[in-house]
Amino acid sequence: MLQSVDTGERSLEAYRGVAPDDTLAQVRIEAERLRGARVLHINATPYGGGVSELLRSTVPLLNDLGLIADWRIISGDEAFFEATKAMHNGLQGEPAGLTHGQRETYLANARRNAQQLEERYDFIFVHDPQPAAVLPFHGKGEARWIWRCHIDTSEPEPGVWAFLRDLLGDYDAVIYTMSEFVAPDLPVARVQIVSPAIDPLSPKNMELPDTTSREVLEWVGVHPERPLITQVSRFDPWKDPLGVIAAYRLVREDVPNLQLVLAGSMALDDPEGWRVYREISAEAADDPKIRLLTNLTGVGNVEVNALQRLSDVVVQKSLREGFGLVVSEALWKRTPVVAGRAGGIPLQMADGVGGALVQTVEQCATEIAALLKDPERARELAEQGQRRIRDHFLTPRLVLDELCLMSALVEGVPRPATDASDATARDPVCGMAITDPDAPSLTYNGKRYAFCSRACEARFADRPERFVAVSQPVV
Ligand code: UDP
Repeated sequence: MLQSVDTGERSLEAYRGVAPDDTLAQVRIEAERLRGARVLHINATPYGGGVSELLRSTVPLLNDLGLIADWRIISGDEAFFEATKAMHNGLQGEPAGLTHGQRETYLANARRNAQQLEERYDFIFVHDPQPAAVLPFHGKGEARWIWRCHIDTSEPEPGVWAFLRDLLGDYDAVIYTMSEFVAPDLPVARVQIVSPAIDPLSPKNMELPDTTSREVLEWVGVHPERPLITQVSRFDPWKDPLGVIAAYRLVREDVPNLQLVLAGSMALDDPEGWRVYREISAEAADDPKIRLLTNLTGVGNVEVNALQRLSDVVVQKSLREGFGLVVSEALWKRTPVVAGRAGGIPLQMADGVGGALVQTVEQCATEIAALLKDPERARELAEQGQRRIRDHFLTPRLVLDELCLMSALVEGVPRPATDASDATARDPVCGMAITDPDAPSLTYNGKRYAFCSRACEARFADRPERFVAVSQPVV
């Protein structure tokens, strides 16, 4: 049996007054149609990184809604996770590729894990490349299989992609975070665009009184009264922690009291973490105002909550990114963000809300300094950001999207295409439900499309055929 992850309990009712009412109502309607369905989510780690964050909230909510949902993880040794990290990097475009030995290791591990999947399910969501080959070794059975890709595979290293592509053919559907991430020759016809979401009720995101947050900061060695910038992310070169240190040093020339926290969790499936950690430690060794914190030294959800809440600016200087949940987490707490223009980050901060998008170290430093100097503007931007997260990036919306996809797969046919006059219209670029009648919209080939932001509208207007082809709205 694959190891099961215990998730505790959640109730949809608890989100009343927190997430939009119409989203909660739609969740109930969709869930009723799937009552009793058995759902499995498989990934590679029970902690660390965005996927485990999502599952910890969505799996118990599915159970609360009358489905029977499990979360299981595949197992693997160090060689396996070296291989899957190389795969992850190759899918994001790194040229190094996969060795013959790494391919063999990956397949042998998939075969072993597939044998351990003994239970029967109606829907199996397989997250990211690590467990992707469980399906070809296990066989479909009666389940609908969905590959949930959290990363950008639009420009993969060709050898790595060809290897993975061969393993995906039997999937019924693939979920991507953004249409721009879809691999050019994906062997699965049904592609659904679903962005991740944060859980506003989790210990990481729930309200914390300022006094408690201050005490938590002191506990981790941060001075609550001095200016603070924080980046929370796995220790991964794509998150550019050294770039963050370089930007901090530039800002510190004008703000000598400035403190920098780099909080990073070590995930089970990320062997690069320690190497990057050592690099950062060496870089930060001579500066006591840089605090390097990890989950292994007791920095967990509540500490991250307090840091994101009391930082003057949250930084996420990613060079490549899947979605970047940490951006939503910070904005939800009304903290302005300076972040790399990568992956799903511009979607969360569309139309300039929430802070600033940057590409270089210098831009990053300039934007941090500007926000530190003008707290009024920083507050306003963060306030707008918080509203955007509430409307689009909270857990109930993610659950709704998954329920809609499951229903559509049972029915076997896509439901009518999106229409802005429909209360459940979807943005064809980001896939988000659009309920605001004043949302930006335009007409293409006689059909009206609604958008979550001017940025999505502009992307659509630039190449509409791309989004209409990819997006098959299920609602
Ligand atoms: N995270 C954490 N502690 C850390 C570092 C990261 O709890 O020290 C969490 C972070 O709050 C977020 C997730 O891990 O919820 C990272 O998700 P994201 O989408 O930003 O990046 P990923 O790791 O999936 O690339």
